[in-house]
Amino acid sequence: MLYKTIKVRNGDMLVNYNIYKCDRCSNDIEEAWPMVINDINHYCYECGFLMDIIDSKEYLRHSGFGLMPNIKAAVHNGEVVLWTTKKPPWETPDSTYRKTKAYRLWRKEVFERDGYVCRHCGSDKDIQAHHIKPFAKYKKLRFKVSNGLTLCDRCHKEEHKRMKMGGRNERSVSNQ
Ligand SMILES: [Zn+2]
Ligand SMILES: [Zn+2]
Ligand SMILES: [Zn+2]
Repeated sequence: MLYKTIKVRNGDMLVNYNIYKCDRCSNDIEEAWPMVINDINHYCYECGFLMDIIDSKEYLRHSGFGLMPNIKAAVHNGEVVLWTTKKPPWETPDSTYRKTKAYRLWRKEVFERDGYVCRHCGSDKDIQAHHIKPFAKYKKLRFKVSNGLTLCDRCHKEEHKRMKMGGRNERSVSNQ
């Protein structure tokens, strides 16, 4: 929707310049910015993409991300995801994710919170960061410290055995 009209100088003239509010997220969209107009509604390009009014090509062009080589965009679980690898991140194997900086940081934060000792037996030998809710299933919780638990190797294996018996969809023990 139109939010307000201001006067701006254009050479010697004062011209009207419209500022809209995105009808989905309420962010301001200036006239000169990319926007998606659908009947009477105005959407920022991000919302336009999320609502499937524009496609990823158009989104990338509007956002400026399109200048990056090999960049791709998609809406996944209601969020805009950008990537440059061959496959989108939700299709990349889980082993890749454990090499990421985000994962290492998460593990360190979990260890720090738990004082670098196993939360089950107190040992500080072979500690690992366990995901309370399996990371394969709960992607959004992967990097939440509250979903992490420091366990030693032995307790970690036991915990996964216990989870399996509980009928939960857990991967092999070597997965963290
Ligand atoms: Zn918006
Ligand atoms: Zn332990
Ligand atoms: Zn685990």
